[in-house]
Amino acid sequence: MALSDWASDYVNLVLAVGRHDGDFVDAYYGPAAWKTVAEAGEPRPLPALQVEAQRIQAGVAAAEALPGEDVRRDYLLGQLGAVEAHLRRLQGHRFSFDEEAEALYQVRPPHLSVATLEAALGRLSQVLGGTGSVQERYQAARARIIIPTERVDAVFQAAILEARERTRKHASLPTSDHFSVEYVTGKAWSAYNWYQGGGTSLIQVNLDLPIAIDRALDLAAHEGYPGHHVYNALLEQRFARPQPEGRDWVEFTIYPLFSPQSLIAEGTANFGIEVAFPGVERLAFERDVLFPLAGLDPADAERWALVQAEMKVLAFADNEAARAYLDGSLDRAAAEAFLVRYSLRTEAQAAQRLRFIDTYRSYVINYNLGEQLVREWVERQGGSVSNPELRWSVFVDLISSPRLPKALGL
Ligand SMILES: [Zn+2]
Repeated sequence: MALSDWASDYVNLVLAVGRHDGDFVDAYYGPAAWKTVAEAGEPRPLPALQVEAQRIQAGVAAAEALPGEDVRRDYLLGQLGAVEAHLRRLQGHRFSFDEEAEALYQVRPPHLSVATLEAALGRLSQVLGGTGSVQERYQAARARIIIPTERVDAVFQAAILEARERTRKHASLPTSDHFSVEYVTGKAWSAYNWYQGGGTSLIQVNLDLPIAIDRALDLAAHEGYPGHHVYNALLEQRFARPQPEGRDWVEFTIYPLFSPQSLIAEGTANFGIEVAFPGVERLAFERDVLFPLAGLDPADAERWALVQAEMKVLAFADNEAARAYLDGSLDRAAAEAFLVRYSLRTEAQAAQRLRFIDTYRSYVINYNLGEQLVREWVERQGGSVSNPELRWSVFVDLISSPRLPKALGL
């Protein structure tokens, strides 16, 4: 069997696993008949799917790769390893947090000591100034930049437009490129990009909790341009589409969420924010366009940018909370308290994050560690902050590539 036949089997396997876990298939735009077959009748039993995953892995490893297909084999093997690990998990195998992260995302997350987090809190306290606990002062500063609900859509649309303009200068998006926004409630996430195929995405924004203005660019760039929407669109265009436009690699018509592709997806989506809006440019756009549009005081923009810069280390507090909670050394209440203290969330936000951790577990590492690893990789290729053009081109090369963390040496 050729690699392309094994790729078809992989897609059908992922669809079959999706019957057991509604969060698993993040996007699918391959042959509709395959989905119909996968959804007919009773789900195939997990042990049989496990045997199938191992059969496909062996087949991919032994299949002859055509010229230029080595990257395809590496991709399939990496993804299949994660599917196999996820199947074990669905059958009750308990991985430790670190084992699970490595099995699904190909990286072992570092451990951050409480002392490191306390030191970061101390620096943040200096930036915030004033008196009272750092959590109270952070929330007071954040309360000043909440977007009034009736202005949320206008602010998001302006952020998306700008992010799209900037991205289009560096990446050739499909002519059908389209990105629509929908507002929802009652979700474990704050926003989600659902790639629909054909260069289109639906982004859902969760309005359960108040939205601070820094989320506008985060969402526009992370979910949209040059983040998830562009990553999916470029992979579809370059690999999934029939020849000569693409390469007819059917495995790129499906995206299993708990797989190494997610570290690249989340890492590039987060790093993409500063590729599109480097430091002072982000500040200028937020202060001069988004703050006025939201009816907020532009004088708060600069201070908040400094606060956000200090939050980079504290973003890793999510991993520490998730590890301790999932491995059983912190109970739910203690994990929420940890998130309130070190990631400066309100109690309501911490509870929302815990619900995210219940569902997505070690996936949390893909945001903070993914961003750090992608940044380091782009900088190793010369895409430093002082070389923005090269940074864009290295970044676009990465998001139009099927390479996984291991192949990138992350
Ligand atoms: Zn994301």
